[in-house]
Amino acid sequence: MKKCKVRFAPSPTGPLHIGGARSALFNYLFASHQGGDMVMRIEDTDLDRSRREYEDEIIESLHWLGIKWDEGVAQGGEKGENGPYRQTERLEIYLQYVQQLLDQGMAYYCFCTQEELEMERQEQLASGKMQRYSGKCSELSDQEIEERLAAGIKPSIRFRVPQNKIYVVDDLVRGRVSFESDNSGDFIIAKSDGIPVYNFAVVIDDVLMGISHVIRAEEHLSNTPRQIMLYEALNFARPEFAHISLILGADRQKMSKRHGATSLVQYREKGYLPEALFNFLALLGWSPQGEEEILSPEEIIKNFTLDRVAKSPAVFDLDKLNWVNQQYLKKKSTEELGDMLKPYLSASEYAADIERLDDFRYGLLVEAVRDHLVCLSDVTQYMDVFFREAVYEEEALQALQEEGVMTVLQQFRDELPQFSEPAEAKDFIKAMVKKLKVKPKNVYMPLRSALSGQTHGPELPFFILIWGREECLRRIDKAIARIS
Ligand code: GLU
Repeated sequence: MKKCKVRFAPSPTGPLHIGGARSALFNYLFASHQGGDMVMRIEDTDLDRSRREYEDEIIESLHWLGIKWDEGVAQGGEKGENGPYRQTERLEIYLQYVQQLLDQGMAYYCFCTQEELEMERQEQLASGKMQRYSGKCSELSDQEIEERLAAGIKPSIRFRVPQNKIYVVDDLVRGRVSFESDNSGDFIIAKSDGIPVYNFAVVIDDVLMGISHVIRAEEHLSNTPRQIMLYEALNFARPEFAHISLILGADRQKMSKRHGATSLVQYREKGYLPEALFNFLALLGWSPQGEEEILSPEEIIKNFTLDRVAKSPAVFDLDKLNWVNQQYLKKKSTEELGDMLKPYLSASEYAADIERLDDFRYGLLVEAVRDHLVCLSDVTQYMDVFFREAVYEEEALQALQEEGVMTVLQQFRDELPQFSEPAEAKDFIKAMVKKLKVKPKNVYMPLRSALSGQTHGPELPFFILIWGREECLRRIDKAIARIS
């Protein structure tokens, strides 16, 4: 049996979107499950919109996500024997096949200008006819062609679409799909500047690179009939096709900028973990057997088959991504999480405060905020309370008015030692509760309110240790002055 080989073929016209990342991931999972190969090809024939920076960014994003490929464009060069892997570097290859179709009469020169084509479109529109190329240049005599070429007119090249044919694809996700050739006019395969169009280049590349399965976004389903016509005309065996459904926003509209971050880089910058996105994107349209939703790459690869990929659109659920990210954050050790949070803190207004903490207290800070984080960049939201003067919230002020508060604050003040572990601070407060013969809440709430100005937030023992005895005393005194 032919070895399974897939490809991811982005157009470098922008950053890698969630949809593109999901297509790349499904290809990777499918190939890895079967022990097959993956090719990375850059489809940069849109010269106006393609940029090398985007290509670099896409590759970088895929690496970050944890997708690996065996052949194609890679950081620092190319690998594989079927290159070059950038379409603009393959133009000569495409032209050979364009010539073959011309020689066989399956393609022809078209000299129509933009204006003529536009006029034709308008007429078809006005008379309610289907909009497609009329075939005006399809019957030009050799002499007419020669004259136009001699006059220096640069022709585009059109494929002669067979008439009255039905093309059938057994799509591995969508099932059987059929198309009538009569719905398509003769289409351009190479533009007048000699650059082939996507539908042509993609066929040549997929064949020459030995692709066995084309797994891509549903929006390309409408391109598939043209590609199939070209496979037949060139006598190439077709690959299998699998078109994966659209990704919708929570409002069930096609995912767009309105829905917030759409590119992978944006999620990376916000501090979502690559393994969380890997897991989340895998579940965007694919479902494993069983209930478990937190799965390692190995488990996903082991279970990934196209028959469990949904035909219906996948809905991008940010709450779910947040939950998945939190599950992965939980697994990080204090040290790992601390290292990951550092860049966000160092770039913030708290850089100097963080710099002053020794490793032990930095570790405490990390543990203090860990459970509050959805993504890494959230960390800065929790820093004011550690490093800025307490701002007393209304609830905190109320809590400080309760009966017995002064006794609690005074006792804390008088007996506070210098702790070396959060557990010691916890025990100290517990002992206060016992001694004062009150409910724990009646000790915790006034202390928390007095020290931090808030009735909620990270756990009290962390504060006490991070600040140290002197700072705690200063804060308590300030609160006492305020309420007396
Ligand atoms: N270059 C196309 C895109 O970025 C991919 C086409 C394909 O996978 O066939 O949408």
